[in-house]
Amino acid sequence: MKKICFVMGTRPEIIKLAPIIKYCELKKKNFFIIFTCQHYDQNMSDKFFKELKIKKPKYKISIQKKRKSNYVNLLSDQIKKILVFENPYIVVVQGDTNSSLAGAIATTKINSKNKKIYLAHVEAGLRSYDYRMPEEFNRQVIDNLSDILFPPTHIQKRILIKEGFSKKKIFVTGSTISDSLNMIKFKTKIKKNFILLTLHRHELLIDRKATTNLFKMLDKIANETYKKIWFFCHPRTLNILKKYKISLNNNFKLNGPVNYKNFLKYLYNCSFIMSDSGGIQEEACILKKNLITLRLNTERPETIKIGSNYLSMEFEKIIKRIRKINNHKPKWKSPYGKNVSKKIMKEILNEKNFVPN
Ligand code: UDP
Repeated sequence: MKKICFVMGTRPEIIKLAPIIKYCELKKKNFFIIFTCQHYDQNMSDKFFKELKIKKPKYKISIQKKRKSNYVNLLSDQIKKILVFENPYIVVVQGDTNSSLAGAIATTKINSKNKKIYLAHVEAGLRSYDYRMPEEFNRQVIDNLSDILFPPTHIQKRILIKEGFSKKKIFVTGSTISDSLNMIKFKTKIKKNFILLTLHRHELLIDRKATTNLFKMLDKIANETYKKIWFFCHPRTLNILKKYKISLNNNFKLNGPVNYKNFLKYLYNCSFIMSDSGGIQEEACILKKNLITLRLNTERPETIKIGSNYLSMEFEKIIKRIRKINNHKPKWKSPYGKNVSKKIMKEILNEKNFVPN
């Protein structure tokens, strides 16, 4: 039976690949997982495997973060050794992390005239063309190395075609996060009146001044809306706050990362969300929660188009948007599909998709 390898290393990848892995388990497919420990904090990694009830990684790689400049190279060398030994038919990577990039590079390095391991990219075709984001390079390189591409919507398919990718490789399937949301029972009502906040992008927290100004603006928003901000703080962001000696006042309720079920419960019950996250743009859209993305661009323009998401870093514009949100009930329809994992697996297992032109 064809062997499938999943390479991943961060919380969002575990969440978004979990339903595909679950599908493979149910259908008794031959697969294994390589986990790179890019997110090494237990609350961002191991606990999610348990919570989503998916098979544990067969391989865990650990590269010292001190050697960051060479991180992707070191990681891909380790992954390559495992791939040579395991000899899978296909490697599946998701999104735009350094782990996905390392998985893609490792797979490509093995290939020669006589040897071919295929590469599948879940969440292909996302583009911001903002090269301050390291993820933008990763996405583009992974798409270029892949044999089969799974963009979430037709917007990303059009981008891929415009960039010269063959239509034959592209399958619009939706986003696996719509399946992930079905794996967890979280829809309990709690009567709370708060803004949910997450922040982790390094472009936003680039120096002390930018970070201080951002938190001053968020504080003003809390005052203006009479709402407390529940901040689910990424471990990296917490370190940055400590480094810059920024302390948060009573307008903020500071939490560490929580498990998926709890996070979704808060997301589902908050007044609205402010975030710089990628995945939360999709989750908020599917769960019909208004989101203000604290960035100047997004690789998920479909959320802007349907009105679930609004991009801004300016206080006045954000306040104007909040007034609008308060007066309108969400009416949009999710563009992210259903049974996405099944659709992806069907294409991955279809040999005709891998016949050379
Ligand atoms: N998330 C979580 N617990 C938290 C914060 C976030 O389970 O305390 C989930 C969230 O629902 C989403 C994912 O983590 O699915 C988003 O991760 P992040 O924003 O770190 O990464 P990005 O999506 O921007 O790559």
